[in-house]
Amino acid sequence: MDIIDESIVRIDPLPGSLHKDMRGKLAMLRLDLLHPIISGNKWYKLKYSMEAARQRHLDTLLSFGGAWSNHLIALAAAAKQHHLRSVGMVRGLQGHALTPVLRHCKELGMELHFLSRAEYDLKEDAGFIDQLQNRYGPFYLVPEGGANEQGRQGAEDIASLIPTEYTHVCISVGTGTTMAGLRSALAPGVQLLGFAPMKGGAYLAETILPYLKTGHTANWRIFDRWHLGGFGKYNEELIAFMNEFYTDTGVPLDLVYTGKMMMAVSALLEIGYFPNGAQVLCIHTGGLTGNASIAERLRFPTPGLSNLP
Ligand SMILES: *Cc1c(COP(=O)(O)O)cnc(C)c1O
Repeated sequence: MDIIDESIVRIDPLPGSLHKDMRGKLAMLRLDLLHPIISGNKWYKLKYSMEAARQRHLDTLLSFGGAWSNHLIALAAAAKQHHLRSVGMVRGLQGHALTPVLRHCKELGMELHFLSRAEYDLKEDAGFIDQLQNRYGPFYLVPEGGANEQGRQGAEDIASLIPTEYTHVCISVGTGTTMAGLRSALAPGVQLLGFAPMKGGAYLAETILPYLKTGHTANWRIFDRWHLGGFGKYNEELIAFMNEFYTDTGVPLDLVYTGKMMMAVSALLEIGYFPNGAQVLCIHTGGLTGNASIAERLRFPTPGLSNLP
C-alpha cells in the first residue's frame, strides 16, 4: 500500500518574465508537493527499497547520511508511515548539538548512531556492516543517498511524468542516482542537464555513466559552476534569488539543491543557452526541510519542522 499519493505531482508553467528571450516554454515538475518531508526524488529513490525490504521480511531500514541529510529524514518518515523501524548512521556529529533535521528524524522514531568521519568511510565495508547487523539485528541496508538499483529504478518512474513535448530536462544532482535513472528512462533525444551543488561536481559524470542503459548514453551533461563555494554553502545572492523566485512564481526552492539549480538555469537563459522553441522542464526535487538553517530569512515557510520544540 502506498500512502504517498503520486497523482498529486503536477507541472507548473513558470512566468514568461523568467525566460523572455527564449521563444519556448519553461515549467517545473513539482515533486516537492508529494509530502512535506518524504519529498521530491527521495520518495522515488526509497519506494523500491522499502518493497525489497518487505519481500525479504526485514522490518528495519538502516542508512547513512550527514547532519542535514534530506535522505535520512525522508527515510525516517517513510519508514514510520510503513511501520518499519529505521536506523540512521550520522557522519561526524559526535559531541555536537543535533540539527533540526536530526531532531525531527528522532521524533519520527529513527535510532541515531553517530560515527566519526573515519568510521563513516567504512559505510560500504562488509566487516563493518556485519558489526552493525550484530548490534541492530537484521536490516535492509539503503546506501547513503539512496544510491542503489532500487533508487535508480524509482527515478525511472519520474520520467513517466514528463510529457514528450519537453526538449530539455533540468535536475539537481547529489549522488547521481536520480539522474542515472532519468537518463535511462527518458527518450534518448531529450537533453538532460544536471546541476551539481558541490565543488568539482564534474566527477559525477563518471559515477553516472556505468548505470546508463544502452541507447541512452548521449544528450546529458553536468554543470558544476554554480556551487557557491561548496556543498551546503550559500551566499546573500542565493537567498535573495530564492525569495524573488518565490515572489515571481509561488514556488519555494531549497537552499542546497534546487535554489542553486534555478540560479544556474536563469543564468543559462540569460546567455541564450537554450535554442528558440526549447521546452524546458525543471524538476523540483524537494528538500525544503533543509531550509531550517535559514528559515527566518525566507519569505516562505519551511515545511515539516514547525512542530519542533
Ligand atoms: C537528494 C537530493 C538531490 C540529489 O539526488 P541524487 O539522486 O542523490 O542525485 C537533488 N535535490 C534534492 C532536493 C535532494 O534532496
